[in-house]
Amino acid sequence: MKETIYQTVCPGCGIGCGLYIRENGNGSVSIDFLKSSPVNLGKLCRFGMKLPHYYSDPSSGKVEGLVSGAEEAVKAAASRLKNAGKIAMLSAGNTTCEEHIAFTRIAETLGTVVHTGIPVYPELPSECHPHLEGMPLAEIENAEKIVLFIDPYVQYPLLVRRLLIARRNGAHIISAGTKELHLAHENRDLSPEQYAGLELDSNSVIIADVHPHTDSCHTKQLLNLALETGARIHFMKPFINSEGANRLARDKTGMMGISHIMDEIEKGDIKTLFLLDSDPIELMPDSDRTANALSKLDNLIVISSRDSPVTEIANVVIATESLYRKRGTFINAEGKLRENSGQEVTGIDAMSLLSRELGSEGFEYRQLHGHLHEKMIETLANENRKPEYGIMECAPVQHNGACTLKYLFNPFMWANQPDDNDFVLLNMNMVRSLKLRKGGMVRLDSEKGSMKMRYRVERVPDGMILTARKLQVATGTNTTVKVEGC
Ligand code: SF4
Repeated sequence: MKETIYQTVCPGCGIGCGLYIRENGNGSVSIDFLKSSPVNLGKLCRFGMKLPHYYSDPSSGKVEGLVSGAEEAVKAAASRLKNAGKIAMLSAGNTTCEEHIAFTRIAETLGTVVHTGIPVYPELPSECHPHLEGMPLAEIENAEKIVLFIDPYVQYPLLVRRLLIARRNGAHIISAGTKELHLAHENRDLSPEQYAGLELDSNSVIIADVHPHTDSCHTKQLLNLALETGARIHFMKPFINSEGANRLARDKTGMMGISHIMDEIEKGDIKTLFLLDSDPIELMPDSDRTANALSKLDNLIVISSRDSPVTEIANVVIATESLYRKRGTFINAEGKLRENSGQEVTGIDAMSLLSRELGSEGFEYRQLHGHLHEKMIETLANENRKPEYGIMECAPVQHNGACTLKYLFNPFMWANQPDDNDFVLLNMNMVRSLKLRKGGMVRLDSEKGSMKMRYRVERVPDGMILTARKLQVATGTNTTVKVEGC
């Protein structure tokens, strides 16, 4: 049977690990290691190893639930968009730079902007934006001190490789996140007022992340810390092209975070949502509530390379080729341009046709790619510049002392992929106070319902329950819960 081999990038997180996808004549895929990839030297995490599952649901075009060809779906989308009121467009960074630019051109025709869904961009002053861009990961290896505000094992697994090299090179690593990390020399649960005790300087690197549910107040506190100490700061990003999508945005202050978009939909202020490879049902913490809100839209139009919960309920689905087959590029979390060997442009052709149907010009791959290079030169000129922002004030959210169920966002959660992570993490104090039995379960009650989960003991803060998978009782990134042994 004929086999085709594609050189591509893992869509699991912003690291952008290189790999090969082998596609059989019957369309099934398997992975192979790309040892020459400078990002990951052929290594892949559990998510990367399970990519055949991720790619097992290629998208199919639909109009009002009926299977349709690309042209029919594009015309149906154009007809709905021409008659729409306020339109929100979302592309979170799950596709190529060239497709993202094509989507932006359509937004210009429609008189709107493309949101990337990450709230810190609209919520932080624009002079902070260049400092949210990633830095070369090789620089982490030479830092003298590293402070982690993420859990690299769960959230950005191949970052661990860089941290272990840094440790071998003599770096002192401090975890200031919510969970004890084995690779850290110190694990410290610090409040922002205690950050001065970290004793950082210009040879230190702060590593945090920005994603659709990042608390911008905390991002401000970390930028303040970098400014006051001279430490470099590196923000990881959750999707294959989050970095590219945000670097390409012309007016970041006009963008909305995904929660803000969903609030406007719930209020009825947004009646048309147009998505490019971004599924709010996957991206929002409460999938049921999100699906319910989306069902109230007048127009839900989706361009997608894979089937996902939102393609089930959309009015129109414009199906494109799987990500690994696309001709195009991505910008990973360190600002490196990564390229697919695939040559297909079904998605770009569909958006070009849509643009013409909306009364504007069509476009082709080469033009879009040329635009990318112009933007890249602009953003590269911005790299390594000195902070131009001042110390920022913010009012942190006060916790009421009740137990908090907290999401530890990771590639499996963002992409709605099955994982065997069917337990929550809590600390020994909670085990003792609840008199939990070894091998027993906990019952979690929230305003949304009740469920039982297995638990594992880890060093996490008192009163916190961490989960690396979505749970039905969760109403947000942090959910107040009552916990009992059972
Ligand atoms: S670290 Fe990220 S990019 Fe690399 S294999 Fe894992 S999920 Fe994919």
